[in-house]
Amino acid sequence: MILVLFGPPGVGKGTQAKLLAEKLGIVHISTGDMLREAVRAGTELGKKAKAVIDSGQLVSDDIMVGIIREVLSSGRSAKGFILDGFPRTVPQAEALSSLLEELGITIGHVVNLRLAEAIVVKRLSSRRTCRKCATIYNLTEKRLADQVKCPNCGGELYQREDDRPETVLRRLSVYARSTTPVEEFYRKRGLLTDVDGSGTVEAVNRAILKVLGKL
Ligand code: AMP
Repeated sequence: MILVLFGPPGVGKGTQAKLLAEKLGIVHISTGDMLREAVRAGTELGKKAKAVIDSGQLVSDDIMVGIIREVLSSGRSAKGFILDGFPRTVPQAEALSSLLEELGITIGHVVNLRLAEAIVVKRLSSRRTCRKCATIYNLTEKRLADQVKCPNCGGELYQREDDRPETVLRRLSVYARSTTPVEEFYRKRGLLTDVDGSGTVEAVNRAILKVLGKL
């Protein structure tokens, strides 16, 4: 199963990808998580990427395609995978098509999670991530009121630098300009299905599983 989870920042791609990877026994590939890990580890890539990520811009296509080529060629994802946050530009989508062709595999589905922009902004500004187990939370959830620790593992909950209000607006405009054309790229190829991202995590998850024919 090869799935691309598509949609604006804050729509719930990361949360859904984690759940689906568990349920379907396939690998979750999040380019955002990989870049943040590189920043934490202080690698050359991390040093180059940090300012770009923090300002809400996109890391270059060359770097991103290189990262994906390495992961997909490693064999780690042989049973199937979910791409979360890649491709984000048409050149990335084109490079992915060539890479998959080389590897003799094809994309099964592109799920386009949709959500009104006002809700996206709200969700991003109240999003917190656990430093230890990387679980994503939303401060509007009742059980999280006044919580600073992860209910899962006790790790510290933090706000991503790029989830601050000024950067959120930049990310949404970058999405509209550079990433929206990718939607058309996959729609034209008959691969894309829209899914309403406004329901609960469970409801959205069921809707995606239905699209995948797994429900
Ligand atoms: P995400 O966690 O997917 O929202 O990604 C966080 C940030 O990492 C983005 O705002 C970009 O700066 C960078 N990034 C992640 N994936 C890509 C990609 N496919 N192309 C370019 N930049 C990316």
